[in-house]
Amino acid sequence: MKIVQVEVSTKCQLRCMMCPRTIYRREWINADMSLESFRKIPFYKFDFAHLQGWGEPLLNPRIEEMIDIAKKHCRVGLTTNGLLVDEFNIKKLDYLAVSIASADEKKHREIRKTSLEALLTKVEKIASDVDITLVFMMMKDTYHELPDIVEIAKEIGAKTVIANNLDYMPVKELEEQAIFLRETDYEPIEVAKIKAKKLGVRLIVKEIKMEEVLVCAENPINNLLVTYEGKITPCVYLHLPTRSNKISRVLRGREFEIEKVYFGYVDDRKSWKKYKKFGEVFERRKNLGYSLLPLDFPQLPECCRTCYKAYGV
Ligand code: SF4
Repeated sequence: MKIVQVEVSTKCQLRCMMCPRTIYRREWINADMSLESFRKIPFYKFDFAHLQGWGEPLLNPRIEEMIDIAKKHCRVGLTTNGLLVDEFNIKKLDYLAVSIASADEKKHREIRKTSLEALLTKVEKIASDVDITLVFMMMKDTYHELPDIVEIAKEIGAKTVIANNLDYMPVKELEEQAIFLRETDYEPIEVAKIKAKKLGVRLIVKEIKMEEVLVCAENPINNLLVTYEGKITPCVYLHLPTRSNKISRVLRGREFEIEKVYFGYVDDRKSWKKYKKFGEVFERRKNLGYSLLPLDFPQLPECCRTCYKAYGV
């Protein structure tokens, strides 16, 4: 499936402790993508448009028009913090992912500064109108709640739970929360899997061990991100809406600064050629990975070598 991710807004009402927008709040560019830029995206090339980058998509005042434009060509979904789901015609979407920080009200408030109960009430009301997925970030302090998250999904009518890792850490202190970097008790995850099966909830849990993959889950062979300015980049990990042209990353306790990666604007043919070339490295890796003599095996692009997604988490 070919997916175009579109950063329709970089604004957000929340200040989650692990979000780069909170960490870089002084240099963050809070902006909405214009309808003009959105119209330039060739949605006919894709099977699915995911309207989210670094920000809350429902804050873009033109979001409903944007969905209508994209829907003429492909399926459309988005990930939201859920605060505005009741002020919007959700039936327009094919897919809605709602992020949830904890199954516990107090902890959810600590991380998100917002009420879990109020969020769940809103989501439950719209669950019959759209296919809902709960997206849960597994952190050291919360991952053991996964069985409860599965239960919540069942109660409010969400069909799927995706348990993600904390896979981008701009500062060292956050690594403390990454469960794939520490001794982890897998039991809560196994319990969650059993519970999900019993309740009929689809559960997708990301890998909790690091191992270099041939192609990262963002799959730059087929997928890409269009930023709020209308620029093409492979993924959110190579773009941040900040004033600097660099991105800070921490990988296993080491700090790195990498250049942001943009191939040009979405309405420029040359941008697409550059994007294709970037993806070709991953395509060669994928093809050679299954051959018996992987001579001349292509290395990951430099900008990917310090990205946790390249190691499968
Ligand atoms: S490895 Fe990381 S930086 Fe490279 S394309 Fe994949 S997600 Fe993006």
